[in-house]
Amino acid sequence: MHRLYEYGDIAVFWDSEKCRHAKRCVTGSPKTFSFERRPWIDLTQAPTMEIWQTIDKCPTGALSCVYTHETGIELDEDNSRSVAICNGEQIGECDFRKTQDGWVIYHTEVMPEHEGKGIAKRLVYKILEAADKSKVKVIPTCSYAKKVLSE
Ligand code: SF4
Repeated sequence: MHRLYEYGDIAVFWDSEKCRHAKRCVTGSPKTFSFERRPWIDLTQAPTMEIWQTIDKCPTGALSCVYTHETGIELDEDNSRSVAICNGEQIGECDFRKTQDGWVIYHTEVMPEHEGKGIAKRLVYKILEAADKSKVKVIPTCSYAKKVLSE
């Protein structure tokens, strides 16, 4: 299961398959991370620095994070894509095709001046999360989406 949590200046990725429940997150920022709550991550509950430092201590890499760089990620399911918006301008896009076998992610692109900020990973995670919630398999054919899924 893949989840993307975003609030203010931080975006957090969680890959449940890597989570070994060492619970360092829960002890590091107990108001942010709670397995007793749904959703189990609430980024409104602690300062960004506390959350960031806690995520750094996740021993398995199940948690990771980036700054949002004032860029929002939206799912545009009608057009089978996720989009990145910064200052009202679209700066990135990840596209998928709905097939009988699952959602095929075939293209991920971020404008060159916005590369290196984790925006492409957020775009892919937005689709992975939506597919998980719809219980649909994801089939990556785009090289970047393949990389995210094999990390
Ligand atoms: S610290 Fe990482 S591996 Fe441990 S419970 Fe939290 S997310 Fe899972």
